[in-house]
Amino acid sequence: MKITGIAVYGLVLPLGRPYSLSGGRLHFTELDSTFVHVETDEGVDGWGEGCPWGSTYLPAFPGGIRAGIAELAPVLLGTNPLRPDVVNRVMDRALPGHPYVKSAIDVACWDIAGKFTGLPIADLLGGDTGEPVLVQSSIPTGTPESMVAAIEDARAGGNRIHSAKVGSGVDEDIARIEMIASALQPGESITFDANRAWLPDDAIRVMRATTHVDGYFEQPCETFEENLMVRRRTTQPLLLDESIQTYHDAVHAISAGACEGIGLKINRVGGLTKARRIRDLCVASGLRLNIEETGGSSLADTAAVHLAQATPATHRRATWLSHEHLATDPIEGGARNDGGSTRIPEAPGLGARPDRTALGEPLAVYR
Ligand code: MG
Repeated sequence: MKITGIAVYGLVLPLGRPYSLSGGRLHFTELDSTFVHVETDEGVDGWGEGCPWGSTYLPAFPGGIRAGIAELAPVLLGTNPLRPDVVNRVMDRALPGHPYVKSAIDVACWDIAGKFTGLPIADLLGGDTGEPVLVQSSIPTGTPESMVAAIEDARAGGNRIHSAKVGSGVDEDIARIEMIASALQPGESITFDANRAWLPDDAIRVMRATTHVDGYFEQPCETFEENLMVRRRTTQPLLLDESIQTYHDAVHAISAGACEGIGLKINRVGGLTKARRIRDLCVASGLRLNIEETGGSSLADTAAVHLAQATPATHRRATWLSHEHLATDPIEGGARNDGGSTRIPEAPGLGARPDRTALGEPLAVYR
């Protein structure tokens, strides 16, 4: 089988409500998503989506995906999409780094492999465990009262795992954490995610003042070394998210004892092929995983749910569904939130495809 065509589409996805994270430092009203359609000489096609949650959340931006695919398309045409490791080596040789550029291509190849074999992607990634994938809420930075109200809404939808976005300042964050923790119900679990907003001294002060709270803290600071400094002076379980961009980053974090878990975001690490390797390393090393996307529609989320569904529940924490924040839903099929959990669609491959009328004309076609 050979790749014979790659079409790239851009689609603006408005958020249902404005979203702030990192203590309000980063603010979003819409996402600019890129959909990639890969065609083959055997008539099997695949879809992938790349959406780095705006241009300010990560060292990644929507235009970068489109420019990067223009670089990659000449070497991808003629490559066998059923060989994901080969496809990734071809991409990495043609364009070192830039993992987020390659994710949608990689997912589209997995979609093709699933349709060709008649299997869901989860079965190609190690096997559908059959265990439900829990959905975590994402609570934007706001007043303590507004954040508690957002958790109540998420609870009404069945979510029992929550991620509250903090990071606006030591005293405000301590007040937030105290109020949110006191409003949780038995059996619920919470992460306080600063999204890199704190300096180490801020993080240490907040975490030392809230040691009585049973929760995880996530990505307190910008750099790996800053997070490690926090790690060594505090006691709560820590998750690293934005710091983990490569397999080597995960090796480094594990060898330094830097965290109990990681946020594994498919687009950020370059697709399912590379995410699977990091997943395997984390499972073998006793780290807990949030497996999810950086952003996008239900199509992007569904790719992450396939990997989560193929990961032992013992090592999973939860999956966040980006598409629940959108005002539009341009996807047919796809994984959905069913009362606080989700699972892969009953279909070969990804089990999700865009509504072609919503996509409009492609931005670029490579043949
Ligand atoms: Mg995070």
